[in-house]
Amino acid sequence: MTDTLDETRWQQVTARDKAADGQFVYAVKTTGVYCRPSCPSRPAKRANVSFFAAPAEAEAAGFRACRRCHPAAAQEPATSLMQAMAAYIVSHAEESLTLAHLADQAGMAPTHFQRAFKAALGVSPREYQAAQRLARFKLALREGEGVLEAGLDAGFGSTSRIYDMADGSLGMTPSAYRAGGEGEHIVHATRETALGFLMMAATQRGVCFVQFGESAERLLAQLAAEFPKAALLPAALAAAAPLDAWMAALAEHLEQAAPRPDLPLDLRGTAFQIRVWRFLMSVKPGDVVSYSELAAGAEKPRAVRAAASACAANRIAVLIPCHRALRADGSLGGYRWGLDRKRALLDAERRLKA
Ligand SMILES: [Zn+2]
Repeated sequence: MTDTLDETRWQQVTARDKAADGQFVYAVKTTGVYCRPSCPSRPAKRANVSFFAAPAEAEAAGFRACRRCHPAAAQEPATSLMQAMAAYIVSHAEESLTLAHLADQAGMAPTHFQRAFKAALGVSPREYQAAQRLARFKLALREGEGVLEAGLDAGFGSTSRIYDMADGSLGMTPSAYRAGGEGEHIVHATRETALGFLMMAATQRGVCFVQFGESAERLLAQLAAEFPKAALLPAALAAAAPLDAWMAALAEHLEQAAPRPDLPLDLRGTAFQIRVWRFLMSVKPGDVVSYSELAAGAEKPRAVRAAASACAANRIAVLIPCHRALRADGSLGGYRWGLDRKRALLDAERRLKA
């Protein structure tokens, strides 16, 4: 599957396909540079090219941005606007949102907006809203709400539409779903810390998301982009969740050097990524590890770049301490949430150890 995806990406690179910009970047082993798909530079040999989903991942693997096509700058604005629009849909999922209205909110022409949204989120705005409604409906059913009430709350409008939707999407009747089906809901909370806004989110299995961001709204957009099919609920509305206590423990860890809280984690990744993350969790505060040690610790000593990518793909900042992974020469390498935060976390841990 990866091979097919990479082949498609390679064709887009050789075609200098502008529509592919923002969907991935490609890196060239021989030059150490990464580019957006439409970069006008002379194309490299296929054997020297690798692909990354985002500029941050290419940076973490040790590549630098091309000066000609500015791949990091090219990707950011469009993607973050679409993530903000996804968050808008999440918070207005029960309303009737027309394409014209959404495009207007985004300040774009409808067809252009539709295309940009699909490029960033992988589904159309309508499909995205439907998934949000469905996830809320499943959640309400599981929590014992009646079918009609749950459906109306989720914005389905009429009983017949609820049953139409349920046949197609649940694969079973709503009442059967309520009896035993699995739905997914994610509870989230945000607070301001010394390192900026921090969001923590959890499923019933454990913490699935800890990230720094520029605002609570941006963080909600990031969460929505990572879990597009889950129902997202603020902790304040989910009375049973221990999330507030977990968040307090994490903030205490960050601000008062309390021990890192031992919280249940809901890890989602490939087997290799999960081995990398578990190995990172064994690295003690004040200690650091190189990407090659990390690869060895995850039982694939030659997969140094993949180990760096696994760090870049970490969704659970601090609790999975990917900030303790450095380049072999001791330089910082990359950090998904900015090198300043990485440096601040490491400095705090070093001070504590000394
Ligand atoms: Zn370039």
